[in-house]
Amino acid sequence: MTLTIVRIYHDLLGTYGDQGNAEVLCHRARARGIEVELVEVTPGEPIPRSADIYLLGGGEDGPQLAALEMLRTDGGLKYAAAGGATVFAVCAGFQIIGESLPGSGGETISGLGLVDAHTHYPKSKRSVGELVIAPTRGGLPILTGFENHQGFTKLGSEMPALGRTLSGVGNGFYATEGVWHGNVIGTYLHGPALARNPELADSVLQCAAGPIAKFDDEFATAFAQERRQTLWSHEKTHPIVLGVGFSRGRASGLQFP
Ligand code: GLN
Repeated sequence: MTLTIVRIYHDLLGTYGDQGNAEVLCHRARARGIEVELVEVTPGEPIPRSADIYLLGGGEDGPQLAALEMLRTDGGLKYAAAGGATVFAVCAGFQIIGESLPGSGGETISGLGLVDAHTHYPKSKRSVGELVIAPTRGGLPILTGFENHQGFTKLGSEMPALGRTLSGVGNGFYATEGVWHGNVIGTYLHGPALARNPELADSVLQCAAGPIAKFDDEFATAFAQERRQTLWSHEKTHPIVLGVGFSRGRASGLQFP
């Protein structure tokens, strides 16, 4: 089998280094003897409709809206996701695949609607720093990364979060972080997230390829462990309070602005 991975518009959605998620997936798939083709789609090029995994990264507001418009017009990502393809979308990418998000004038515009998630830009401080989450699905360890976003994303009641925020902000509502709905995963974790969390990379591969052989990349595992131990044990001894009415890692009860 050949796994086709599509990296979408990394010229627009590569501000935070999320393009590295593609390399991690290629490396971990090939280590299992799975052949991989990495397809780079630049703005203006059509999105392949029959690939296995689609990757979106984070970006600034302008490029994010440009990417959304092109994806909407192209229709390929939505088509592929409806057919069961795996989507891994980070930050701006996560907001793009939701139902709604702010447009250039602050008005609410429609996203691609792959997941029931609504993004708002509250007037509070931008969420910047390390993010630590406890995954909601079994079999995954604590996940870490960094976040840098203005948006808060509220999930629909049927949408499972990727995890519960232990430290940092994440979605900004009820200590949820990201989304994992079918084969679509969204998150605010940068790092790149799949380099910081090899176990999550394997979950993405499994969504697309089914059960995969065990593979221990000693260096990647040690790096992930070091971040987990440093950030989570640090947070337990130095709890940080972020902004008014918002405690890190606790359900905030924040309302829409
Ligand atoms: N523009 C979005 C926000 O600020 C996404 C930022 C990002 O991708 N890091 O919320």
